[in-house]
Amino acid sequence: MPICWLISEENNHKPIRLPHQQTVVLGRGPETTIKDKKCSRQQVELKAECNKGYVKVKQLGVNPTYVDSVVVAKDNEVKMKAGQRLHIVNQLYPYTVQFKEDPTHGGTKRPRELSSEDRESRGEDLSVKAAKQKEKVSVSVSLGEATKNIESLGHWSQGLKTSMQDPKMQVYKDDKVVVIKDKYPKARYHWLVLPWQTISSLKALSEEHCHLVKHMQQVADQMVRQCPDAGLLRFRTGYHAIPSMSHVHLHVISQDFDSPCLKNKKHWNSFTTDYFMESHDVIQMLEKNGRVNVKEGTSELLKLPLRCHMCRKDIPTIPALKEHLKSHFPS
Ligand code: AMP
Ligand code: ZN
Repeated sequence: MPICWLISEENNHKPIRLPHQQTVVLGRGPETTIKDKKCSRQQVELKAECNKGYVKVKQLGVNPTYVDSVVVAKDNEVKMKAGQRLHIVNQLYPYTVQFKEDPTHGGTKRPRELSSEDRESRGEDLSVKAAKQKEKVSVSVSLGEATKNIESLGHWSQGLKTSMQDPKMQVYKDDKVVVIKDKYPKARYHWLVLPWQTISSLKALSEEHCHLVKHMQQVADQMVRQCPDAGLLRFRTGYHAIPSMSHVHLHVISQDFDSPCLKNKKHWNSFTTDYFMESHDVIQMLEKNGRVNVKEGTSELLKLPLRCHMCRKDIPTIPALKEHLKSHFPS
């Protein structure tokens, strides 16, 4: 039977093993390194169902625990699968779970991979599926090594952390931020601006980050100014309200959406509805409220019918939309 691991996305500590059908209570304390008083010492109760590939998450503390963007609610229990993200309290302290074959029992079953559907639902490009197969952890002989392997494997949602360190991906860097080309660009020009500082997502931003986020905006503007097609194309700079990749990143994207990587309605709506939060609005929210507020129901925006962002015409399918876009952006 696979072993379940709870992994801190911020790499605050080593993965915590969740034994099959045993309750593990976590919260503020040395095990998680969480010191935040809003987090109860007994904030969540986790119970892995290793043969079924999910973990039951029960909120014990008063303040909210989240699975993806949904509040668990006190004394309530929800199921969490690989690919989903647990925030222990107040949308902070992000964790994922992984199920790996027990290396001490020489099992023949493969670790539970995310299904295509799981990946799609997290907005990941299915074209990377083949590459992921190669990244699979090699079976090792002791639990200690298994832990090490999980750490080096890196969940797909950690891919930006690898890319931002890769000189081949970097197109600009300074002491605060790095700009990389999006690996699966959804338009002719698509860059990501990332801070060197480890900040998991928009939700982890507070007033103290205002300066940094403004700098990210300035760098984004500079990228646009230096683009050879700046005079021809319009650009937008913003954040996905509910990102699929860890480490806060500012999208800088030309509005032609002329790219083979733009494949489905989720991709389209994530850049053309309010799911895409303008960088200027994010800065304003931080200045005014000291945090970034993501409206309830935002995930529903991804299901909206396809509509041209230029002329607001409804278009039935992605191929028809791509054809229609040619009229606005001739190549
Ligand atoms: P989101 O988390 O929804 O804001 O979007 C993440 C973006 O990262 C998407 O536009 C992906 O195409 C892109 N992406 C995914 N994996 C990588 C990677 N390993 N390196 C660079 N970009 C990536
Ligand atoms: Zn149109």
